[in-house]
Amino acid sequence: MTRVLEPATEEVLAEVPSAGVEETDAAVARAREAFPAWRSVEPGDRAAILHRLADALEGAVERLATLEARNAGKPISDARGEMGMVAATFRYYAGAPERLLGQTIPVAGGVDMTFREPLGVVGLIVPWNFPLTIASWKLAPALAAGNTVVLKPAELTPLTALEFERIAVEAGLPDGVVNVVAGPGSVCGRRLVEHEDVAKIAFTGSTEVGRRIAEGAAATIKRVTLELGGKSANVIFADADLEQAATAAPAAVFGNAGQDCCARSRILVERSAVDRFMEALEEAVESLRVGDPLDEQTEMGPLISADQRAKVESYVNGDAPVAIRGGAPSGRGFWFPPTVLCPVSNDDRAAREEIFGPVACVIPFRDEAEAVRLANDTIYGLSGSIWTRDGARALRVVRAVDSGVLSINSNTSVRVATPFGGFKQSGYGRELGPDALDHYTEVKNVYYATGG
Ligand code: NAD
Repeated sequence: MTRVLEPATEEVLAEVPSAGVEETDAAVARAREAFPAWRSVEPGDRAAILHRLADALEGAVERLATLEARNAGKPISDARGEMGMVAATFRYYAGAPERLLGQTIPVAGGVDMTFREPLGVVGLIVPWNFPLTIASWKLAPALAAGNTVVLKPAELTPLTALEFERIAVEAGLPDGVVNVVAGPGSVCGRRLVEHEDVAKIAFTGSTEVGRRIAEGAAATIKRVTLELGGKSANVIFADADLEQAATAAPAAVFGNAGQDCCARSRILVERSAVDRFMEALEEAVESLRVGDPLDEQTEMGPLISADQRAKVESYVNGDAPVAIRGGAPSGRGFWFPPTVLCPVSNDDRAAREEIFGPVACVIPFRDEAEAVRLANDTIYGLSGSIWTRDGARALRVVRAVDSGVLSINSNTSVRVATPFGGFKQSGYGRELGPDALDHYTEVKNVYYATGG
């Protein structure tokens, strides 16, 4: 059995059976058996089942949100928003089965046509920071395209995945189409990566484990998509609405207690605006409400574990001075105060490594060219923002920054209908939007000789 903790209290929230290789193999076998029938379900019927699942998830938002808030330590208002997105993701991809279009291509002597075929059994491996949300970004397009799935949640946060499996069966997904194995990554995750009957791995997690997955998948030429770490830049020019940029900055790095791959954890500020920006930022950080995840007013909860807290702490005692430190509860719970380091050099360890906690680095820059150079001076390339009132400059900078998801005068990264994913060591492949379906289908080309 695995003991699942509540990060805000350090109490045991649940005990769940821990799956091993045998259970993983059994889940793959069930998914494999269910595949021929599921891929053959009429597109309209598959769409109807996914709509029913979206209905059921909408009805379960409050229950799932409470479970996720307690297990992941995230504020209930955020968890509610995330569970709404889970339902919306299924609603969006419920429209896909009838729109998986092929092409007809003019060729000599016949007709050439393409079909979008499902891959088979897909292994989904997800992290603990947005447990069911990230799973839904994989589950919904995979199922809509006619694949069957084995989902492996993170060891620390298996509860909403297990609840999802029950909801899916009740909503009418046939047996074996969705299978959840809750167990260690080094055992169940690894087995999925090596398994000959798994056609693809869709992974979200650290760059380090992503690298291991890409290596492991090579043996069976498995398809792989990887959503990995980030160290994104929030680039603020002196001509921006500084008040607005400073008010928005804390949520972009302290949201989910900084345990967010899209965190804009490097705040690049034009030198002449640093003092004004820091003043406004201090006010915004000090007013952040850090506390009980189940309190409706809470904006930031605890970190996920004691290990994570120790890791985050190690970045705060480095070269860069602590300029702002917000409040956090004391006592039980894996609490960590929102912290801003300033000024930071982009060469400091805190600016180079993904901290995955509520620590922001403010890095001053001279001009546009230096801002772009610093934004790109990282192994990662997931997200980022540009704040300026100069529209032409905004467009120049977003084109020059090597990231998969960028925003102008905003810090949002994620929308159900738009593609999400990274450049460089932030991974490959795209989730959400129409692009995700390309990663859950193969193109089949058929030539029909007509003799003409
Ligand atoms: P992690 O890489 O440690 O674990 C992710 C998942 O992989 C877990 O389910 C784990 O059990 C499994 N796993 C571990 N070892 C494995 C192995 N050898 N084979 C197969 N599976 C294995 O990541 P984490 O600590 O759970 O999450 C934090 C990381 O996730 C951060 O680096 C963060 O940036 C990244 N992340 C990325 C995105 C994105 O979309 N780019 C989103 C959220 C989190």
